[in-house]
Amino acid sequence: MNVPLLDLKPQLAPLRAQILEAVTRVIDSTGYILGPEVTKLEQKVAQYSGAAHGVGVSSGTDALLAALMSLDIGPGDLVLTTPYTFFATMGTVLRVGAKPVFVDVEPGSLNMDPALTAEALKADRQGENRIKAMIPVHLYGQCADMQRLGALSQEYGVPIIEDAAQAIGAEFPYEENGQITWKRAGGMGLCGCFSFFPSKNLGCLGDGGMITTSDEAFAAILRSNRNHGAEPKYYHSRVGGNFRLDPIQAVVLSIKLDHLEQWHAGRRANAALYRRLFADAGLVNDPVILPTALYADKAGASEHNHHIYNQFVIHVPKRDALRQHLQANSVGCEIYYPLCLHQQECLRDDAYRAQSFPVAEQAAADSLALPIYPELTPEQLEYVVKTIKAFYHAC
Ligand SMILES: *Cc1c(COP(=O)(O)O)cnc(C)c1O
Repeated sequence: MNVPLLDLKPQLAPLRAQILEAVTRVIDSTGYILGPEVTKLEQKVAQYSGAAHGVGVSSGTDALLAALMSLDIGPGDLVLTTPYTFFATMGTVLRVGAKPVFVDVEPGSLNMDPALTAEALKADRQGENRIKAMIPVHLYGQCADMQRLGALSQEYGVPIIEDAAQAIGAEFPYEENGQITWKRAGGMGLCGCFSFFPSKNLGCLGDGGMITTSDEAFAAILRSNRNHGAEPKYYHSRVGGNFRLDPIQAVVLSIKLDHLEQWHAGRRANAALYRRLFADAGLVNDPVILPTALYADKAGASEHNHHIYNQFVIHVPKRDALRQHLQANSVGCEIYYPLCLHQQECLRDDAYRAQSFPVAEQAAADSLALPIYPELTPEQLEYVVKTIKAFYHAC
């Protein structure tokens, strides 16, 4: 049996005719830059995420870059973030000339640890006072603790840029007086940055991204910065870039967005089946640690996207050998991420490499993402678990 890590064909098949019709309409319109289809998608994604405004951009990376530029973050500034995420979270900070400050992630969720975040902010405020923003990442499709991070944001006056690239539609349960209010990724910080890279839960036919915000003035700066900082055309009070989203991608995304809730549910159903199969196989906790679903037991969780499982990541001993075994048996899998950001060579500054983030480093050593896309069959999941069981029985 063949179980690819991701196969987009079964998602495309039922939508293909509708997508071709919409793309053809854009082609025939000869309007290829921004325009009404991009505006329509911006409104849809903003509404979906619980934000007032959406700004379509060229990628998730450019969403982060434009957000940092729009906060005027640059040389001399520090940005607080996690060492365990895709490179773009840090790469964009470096590109604007600022420096990342890392805090370790929480065991289990692998999201930014609020207690360590509080320590870092306190130390900065008692010292150089250079932290200008924080970028929590909603890793694998589960929100970081936005209640505690949001409180710190208020207390220290440090805006939050949510890296929601893996988390469109993911919801976080705010608790107040015993009441739970679920809020969506991209609708909690100053802004949220989404990626429409094809492997995200909502993917386009290439690169694309979106920034959501409920701050009208900030939305205006973002819109200006995605178009060279021009306001009006040919007059530049700031230096932006070309970070525009194409209408061809916008129409595709608009069609797919209508199916997103169903795809999230399909991924969650697959995650539930994996949990049952791993339990039946007697593999849970020893040797396979299953992904943490932090908010699954909160009131109302079953009606909310407490996790959207962009990735289903297990933690295992002998990870690299298991990975080879899975690949040899036609099961796709991947390591997100094999090296923490503070260990990346591009940082050059040895002070980063001397730092230690034990939870993130452990995750880099033992994490393995399994196939989780919605169209997988129960037989395919059974085969994945059976193949893992065979590996550990043999060793
Ligand atoms: C995918 C991703 C990005 C970058 O998105 P692109 O659209 O590929 O530029 C940024 N951050 C995280 C956490 C991601 O997973």
